[in-house]
Amino acid sequence: MQGVVWSQPEAFYPALILLSEALTMMSSTKEKTMSSIHSGQDSKVVTRTTRTPVIHAPKLIKVAKADEPLYRQVIEAAKLASKRAYRPYSNYNVGAAVLTFDGKIYAGCNVENCGYTQTKHAEEGAIQAAIADGVLERAEAAGLTQFQAFLAIAVYAPKGSDPWPCCNCRQSLSEFGFEMHVIGEGAQGEILCLTLGQLIPFPFPIQEVLESVRGQR
Ligand SMILES: [Zn+2]
Repeated sequence: MQGVVWSQPEAFYPALILLSEALTMMSSTKEKTMSSIHSGQDSKVVTRTTRTPVIHAPKLIKVAKADEPLYRQVIEAAKLASKRAYRPYSNYNVGAAVLTFDGKIYAGCNVENCGYTQTKHAEEGAIQAAIADGVLERAEAAGLTQFQAFLAIAVYAPKGSDPWPCCNCRQSLSEFGFEMHVIGEGAQGEILCLTLGQLIPFPFPIQEVLESVRGQR
């Protein structure tokens, strides 16, 4: 039988033609799918999960009455900064303001860039402004570490629904301790508050990296 097959390949031409047509059709379907993704039309990509994700939201911290007036000032500073955002590419304003250990408030806003990756986030701007004004020097003089220099950061986005920073900013902020409060205004005007640590349950271990730099690891 095998001898017959190989000696008469023309017997398989019809089957080869069908296979070739099928492959061409599959290829064009794939191209259509990819082009629909790039053109923003409905995609044929189907995503599946093997299990239902479970989200454990952290428990909000009740802000002490005595801290409320100052925290509201920080939130107002973030709101004001959000109005000054430079965001020609997203049209999405964000303002942030940090409260330092010595009661000073520094604000920042998003500053976008046509290169996109050069865009600066509001939280980064606020931290930068505080450091440029010497907060770390003042903290050191007061016997504090970099992890105690910032008490709170407020984040405000007029189009946003909550004040929690993006994950990039969470990592940036973690350089200055996980105890700082991340605050913002809730839907009823109440102050929402979480520690940075609550927003980063499994943080990149800055202490281990610092120990490595010091040769302790
Ligand atoms: Zn961010």
